[in-house]
Amino acid sequence: MPNINIDGSSIEFKQGQTIIEAARDSGITIPHFCWHPKLSVSGNCRICLVEVEKMPKLVIACSTLASEGMVVYTKSEKVIAAQNAVMEFLLINHPLDCPICDEAGECKLQDYAYKYSVGESRFVEEKVHKDKRVALGPRVMFDGERCISCSRCIRFCDEIAKDPELTFVKRGDRVTIVTYPGEEMDNPYSMNTIDICPVGALTSRDFRFKARVWDMSSTNSICNGCSRGCNTEIWVRNNKILRLTPRHNEAVNSYWMCDHGRLDTFKNVNAEDRINSPQLRKDGQLLEASWDEAIEEAASKLKSFNKDQVAVIGSPVATNEDNYLVSKFARTVLQTGNLDFIRHTNPDFADDILRTEDVTPNSTGAELAGVQPSKSGLDIQGILKAIKEKKIKAIYLIEDDIVESFPEFENAIAALDLFIVHSSNQNKSTALADVIFPAATYAEKNGTFVNVEGIVQRIRPAVSVAEQDRALDGMSMSRLDKFGTKYDRWASGKKINALPTWKILTSLAKAMGGKLKFSMAENVFEELSNTVEAFKGLDYDVIGELGSKLKTEIKNNIKVS
Ligand code: SF4
Ligand code: SF4
Repeated sequence: MPNINIDGSSIEFKQGQTIIEAARDSGITIPHFCWHPKLSVSGNCRICLVEVEKMPKLVIACSTLASEGMVVYTKSEKVIAAQNAVMEFLLINHPLDCPICDEAGECKLQDYAYKYSVGESRFVEEKVHKDKRVALGPRVMFDGERCISCSRCIRFCDEIAKDPELTFVKRGDRVTIVTYPGEEMDNPYSMNTIDICPVGALTSRDFRFKARVWDMSSTNSICNGCSRGCNTEIWVRNNKILRLTPRHNEAVNSYWMCDHGRLDTFKNVNAEDRINSPQLRKDGQLLEASWDEAIEEAASKLKSFNKDQVAVIGSPVATNEDNYLVSKFARTVLQTGNLDFIRHTNPDFADDILRTEDVTPNSTGAELAGVQPSKSGLDIQGILKAIKEKKIKAIYLIEDDIVESFPEFENAIAALDLFIVHSSNQNKSTALADVIFPAATYAEKNGTFVNVEGIVQRIRPAVSVAEQDRALDGMSMSRLDKFGTKYDRWASGKKINALPTWKILTSLAKAMGGKLKFSMAENVFEELSNTVEAFKGLDYDVIGELGSKLKTEIKNNIKVS
């Protein structure tokens, strides 16, 4: 490979790379505002100016191709003077309202003002004033005074979202961003412009003024809005999720996530309708019960049915660990092969960017983990038919809403002799249940999902449930930290009395004389990877932060809406 020399270090680069790309690949940072690795080069901010031997003037590193033998200086006197000048120019009309800006603490302009500017202003004239609160669309707010005209937002809409909605108008210090006449910025990926805006000019209408960035903890996770499994960070303050942001993973979602995933997939965690205790139906009423009472009641009632009268419905929303124990519980404890899960698909949701037709995060994992009917067992349609014919008398439903999915079967489900439901929130199925176990959400437990391309990815507890030990699944703090969980350990916010599905099933199996002995989600995964060929060789360390591809080819065989 060819070489260039940057600040005295000889580095290799790939033919066709610019200086900024070559430097970045070798861990050398050249400051930049308008350059982004996934957008076209616009070269307008000039903060990436570098000195190149034998070139008469400074050049911008974002658009100058690296060439064999090139000698580059990023910290020379000339370069530092240019950086100071660019920063002075960008800050002339900037309102310097960091104390009230959502971006403070994660703002490139703020960071660079410390690093690349002289630290004081010579400007005494009146600053140019522009509109400070312009709703560009339903989800994004624009502050014209903070904008440094880098054009990242415009290029994102044009090149990534494929929906040109923004443009510059006016010139010089009056230049600003607007939507085209009659348009608003409402593309399904619009909120990525907030992440890539290098200043606080674009903010989230949902998150604005809710918290300072340094007051929140963040935990690496996976979006559960569809089977893409975009990598995310969950941001929490006082045990409450305040926002999700995308986490870079080139093999899954690059730098992006969709607005639905960002806004609609965590609100149930904080919702008022969370189920906060096990519940038992007595004299037609659902009443709160202790875990022991609920486990005992469920165990004794389940024992009264013969195996053909029972069906178990797993979940494409639950983890592989949950589904593996659902399958094991059904086959070894209840000894039934009537086992399946409900597929949730929406062709209108899918696009060519990230969003998939399967609007659940783990249907592939549920199936691989064993949630499928035995040879003589019933699938979901067979189970529904058998409920109607009163052949199935007891349903054990995991983290789903069968009544919402199949409203035509509501009366038949209501007439069941026993209906046990694991759920995090109230829904149409919990309203008919005889026993409800409060299930931890994806943001409250450890586990794994398999995405649409067969990549196994980790989720971690970002908020704690009633007993911290339960949320931690027995993991030590140092191990949690190793997995990227900056856990909100001393959170004072409300804590829900819920448990992961795999853990509830472990207790219930014990009460029924079964043998499911697991103390951590990681132990369940260990057994799953030793048992199911597709997961062979994987463990939580191997999966790491960016996931690991299954050994088996995945077919996305979605069957039922
Ligand atoms: S709003 Fe942000 S991303 Fe868009 S041009 Fe201004 S500074 Fe750049
Ligand atoms: S594309 Fe799917 S996984 Fe990604 S953010 Fe959107 S809903 Fe979530």
